[in-house]
Amino acid sequence: MTRLSSGATIGILGNGQLGRMLCLAAAPLGFCTHVYGPNKNSPAEQVATTSTVANYDDKTALATFAKSVDVVTFEFENVPASTAAYLAAHTKVHPSWKALEIAQDRTKEKVFFSKIKAKTADWRPVNSKDDLKVALKEIGFPAILKTSRLGYDGKGQVKIKSAVDAEMAWQKLSAGKSIRSKGAFAALESFIDFSCEISIIAARDEKGTIMCFEPAKNVHENHMLATSTVPANLDPKIIEESESITKRAIQSLDIVGLLAVEMFVTRSGEILCNEMAPRPHNSGHWTIDACGTDQFQQLVRAITGLPLVHPARHSDVEMINLVGEDYADQLSSYLANPDAHTHLYGKTESKPGRKMGHVNILLPRPGEN
Ligand code: AMP
Repeated sequence: MTRLSSGATIGILGNGQLGRMLCLAAAPLGFCTHVYGPNKNSPAEQVATTSTVANYDDKTALATFAKSVDVVTFEFENVPASTAAYLAAHTKVHPSWKALEIAQDRTKEKVFFSKIKAKTADWRPVNSKDDLKVALKEIGFPAILKTSRLGYDGKGQVKIKSAVDAEMAWQKLSAGKSIRSKGAFAALESFIDFSCEISIIAARDEKGTIMCFEPAKNVHENHMLATSTVPANLDPKIIEESESITKRAIQSLDIVGLLAVEMFVTRSGEILCNEMAPRPHNSGHWTIDACGTDQFQQLVRAITGLPLVHPARHSDVEMINLVGEDYADQLSSYLANPDAHTHLYGKTESKPGRKMGHVNILLPRPGEN
């Protein structure tokens, strides 16, 4: 891959907080950024070199965008297939559309995990109420019904505790939606009584070099990430296996860029893959203050032909998401703490469940004062 020169422009599809932090990482490496997305007054446009506010199916705006950039990447994976295909015909796009297509669909993701010999929770594809009944008989209770597409942070999923909940769960997820004849509308998966949740973020360059950040231990509240802690204090075998799964996944998808894999660790020490995202990930925000190179800088390096660097961690860290209307109350105590590194996303309106920022609290490492 030819290394992009200083002053080249990285195009970013999506203009939320991940795009914002990507722009901030690109600048010290000499790159300009052009963010593209449908939302006005977005977190990313406040810090990008250039911004386009347009829909993902606006071919005229996409053509102008493609001409203005040297490479395109994504800050979220739910960009329509036609947008990615259109851009790929005009400019370099990393990661490839193939990787996005799998990561956009939970059932395709699960099939992919089994192809690379990584386990998942027991699951069944569901396209109708009758499918759901059969799947519940096979999987048992409790279980979780999740839409294959467009679900995140607990949206598009319902826990089913007994047969009585099944009808309501199906209604809730399928109301007003067209059920595709191809693929699965939803997946029913068994509810895992895990001992913890972890995630690993890997970066891969065009030569195939892969570098992984350490696993983070993640705690979710209301299906949304609340904290990530590193070190995760895991059995070395779990670290080795989770890293091996992540490397197999990024390699097999031929990704140039990042891949985050979220996993459950069961009480018997089994690793079950939950989902993956071929982009920077909320559970990797700890890397910004605790590592020499963070997830955003590794992505910039991977897609511009700069060398990846070993992402060594210099501090122990807890990342805390600032969410919802009362985030300002939490923030005031962190602002007075010199070990708390604050990252606000520039959003003017706070709403319940809206991610407003995060704080990385650097912790003394054992043996240090
Ligand atoms: P997801 O949208 O699949 O990442 O789910 C969000 C969160 O819900 C996960 O991080 C878990 O905390 C919880 N969750 C999702 N699926 C399961 C499952 N099969 N068993 C137990 N908890 C789950």
